[in-house]
Amino acid sequence: MSAPRIAQFKLVLLGESAVGKSSLLLRFARGVYEDNRESTIGAAFLAQNVRLEPDLVVRFEIWDTAGQERYKALAPMYYRNANAALVVFDLLSQESLARAQSWVRELRVQADDGIIIALVGNKLDLLNQLKAESPNSSGKIGISEDAKSYAAEAGLLYYECSAKTGENIEAVFKGVAEKMPINE
Ligand code: GDP
Repeated sequence: MSAPRIAQFKLVLLGESAVGKSSLLLRFARGVYEDNRESTIGAAFLAQNVRLEPDLVVRFEIWDTAGQERYKALAPMYYRNANAALVVFDLLSQESLARAQSWVRELRVQADDGIIIALVGNKLDLLNQLKAESPNSSGKIGISEDAKSYAAEAGLLYYECSAKTGENIEAVFKGVAEKMPINE
């Protein structure tokens, strides 16, 4: 059997500090999760493959950026020439969604035209736990609905996942891989 074809793309992770960007990447690339990880300083880099077809592999070069304001000026360096961006927020933090929306606006102005942007709500395990604890709650829990309608309006891919349990993590990267401009 011949070796699969490998198509390589650059993917950048953006979002407020502590939404779980590094955890998401560790879960996807290494299959592990650690509570109370230390924050990313500057940026970290990993490469990881997604098999799209038996003979086609998408290889993502993934840049994990620090969410802290003091590193914000460095971000353009990471999303320059990026084919894809995962803009991550915490499904229980309205503020992190607002921050995600401002990243999307920045990408639309500054990043390459063809960039595929996915809005990714992380910590789904916590959201599900809260819902289970108050099954009769009439008030809304979390910000899924706001995030979903924003993503639809803005034409973004949308996912909800948990780096902690691994739920939906593969789907995020596979979904983005499927949108990559692969030449026949
Ligand atoms: P980053 O600053 O965006 O890279 O966030 P980190 O990956 O460092 O995660 C921040 C904190 O949130 C850490 O204490 C993680 O253990 C925790 N965390 C990350 N992902 C999840 C998740 O899916 N569920 C829960 N419950 N906690 C998470």
